[in-house]
Amino acid sequence: MSAPVRSIAVVGAGVAGLATALACARAGHRVQVFEQVGAFAPVGAGIQLGPNATRVLHDLGLEPALRAVAAFPAELQVRSATDARLLGVLPLGERAQARYGAPYATLARADLHHMLLTGLEAQTQASLYVGCHIDSAQQDSGAVQFRTADGMVRRVECMAAADGLWSKLRSQVLYDTPPDATGHIAYRALVQQADLPENLRSAVVTAWLGPNFHAVTYPVRGGAWLNAVVVEHGAGGGEPDNWSQPASPDAVAAGMEGAAPVLRDLAQAMGGWQSWTLFDRPPLRSAALMGAARIALVGDAAHPMRPYLAQGAGMALEDSGCLARELSRPGLSVAQAVQAYANARWQRNARVQKRAVRNGVWFHSSGVRASVRDLGMRVLGARVLDMPWLYGYGA
Ligand SMILES: Cc1cc2nc3c(=O)[nH]c(=O)nc-3n(C[C@H](O)[C@H](O)[C@H](O)COP(=O)(O)OP(=O)(O)OC[C@H]3O[C@@H](n4cnc5c(N)ncnc54)[C@H](O)[C@@H]3O)c2cc1C
Repeated sequence: MSAPVRSIAVVGAGVAGLATALACARAGHRVQVFEQVGAFAPVGAGIQLGPNATRVLHDLGLEPALRAVAAFPAELQVRSATDARLLGVLPLGERAQARYGAPYATLARADLHHMLLTGLEAQTQASLYVGCHIDSAQQDSGAVQFRTADGMVRRVECMAAADGLWSKLRSQVLYDTPPDATGHIAYRALVQQADLPENLRSAVVTAWLGPNFHAVTYPVRGGAWLNAVVVEHGAGGGEPDNWSQPASPDAVAAGMEGAAPVLRDLAQAMGGWQSWTLFDRPPLRSAALMGAARIALVGDAAHPMRPYLAQGAGMALEDSGCLARELSRPGLSVAQAVQAYANARWQRNARVQKRAVRNGVWFHSSGVRASVRDLGMRVLGARVLDMPWLYGYGA
């Protein structure tokens, strides 16, 4: 039996949408992608991709593109945010490659986005429509029907809703409520390492753990730039879907109670801080929350998560590969393929969502809990920091 060729609409051209579209186009399907923004600006700061995620990029033919823009740090260091003491080390670099068959990469979100976009543009059976907001979709037993911004009605066999955290399609497919505020704010900045004093530059991933806050720093763009994220407790403000609200170094430093001088210096030295209020949803409870009939939810539309396991983009990439595989399986109807995708993905995504919440609690702890955490890391080291169940997926 030969593989089916399907007509697929992808709503949203973020990481999840572009990866889904590219995976489906490479499998021979006819793909149309609809993105509400009129032009892609290089927004966002850095993204970490574990071997489970870079493996998907390799499968999409993007290994050379990844090599050209990412950094491949030799290790993850965990440090106390209050006195900069080293608590634990996880070797990455060649060890991650040897152990998991794919690298641990750190890169700018804009570079990841551009790489996926360039890959998609090379696919002749894929079309991208920008400035095209899709509000709603209806489905019957034969097709998914939706109206584009210019008023045209289109029918396709399958839709991938990759419209992100504030997904409108999700609310229609699942009759769902909006995401929940987590009570945490992330401040992010991306600067050239050459513009920083030497003691603040870094070639490794460092997680700095403090009471009610943590920071993560890592290199991107082949190591030439440094990305920093500081997560603090607080309600946040401004527009919840705005990724680029400017913040002052003093605002960043204000929530870092008792921070070591090196972190305070970093807050002041990095220019261009932007704040981003964090939202999520409870971990998935069933396959039914990842799609229905001909509409599959992918990426943040299905399972927005806290960034404390650095797997938001990773799970979006894993989703994309899985959906393309199921839609290409001979003998399955579209609805069966969407069901098979949801069955295959929901528990994995739920586990990562839960683990991210738990990490946040450990990262921000104080007193006895922090002492237990630090002791565990000192004694067990890489054994607590390495996660074969996470990074070995799909190997
Ligand atoms: C601007 C921006 C900056 C980000 N920066 C970072 C960062 O610095 N670090 C980090 O770890 N993560 C960042 N993220 C989040 C990260 O990209 C995602 O968590 C992860 O990659 C999963 O992506 P996604 O494609 O599911 O969702 P998103 O990346 O949110 O993409 C959703 C896409 O759908 C489009 N869209 C939404 N509704 C509609 C509609 N009705 N019709 C058509 N299009 C629609 C949006 O414009 C967007 O392009 C950012 C996301 C965005 C949108």
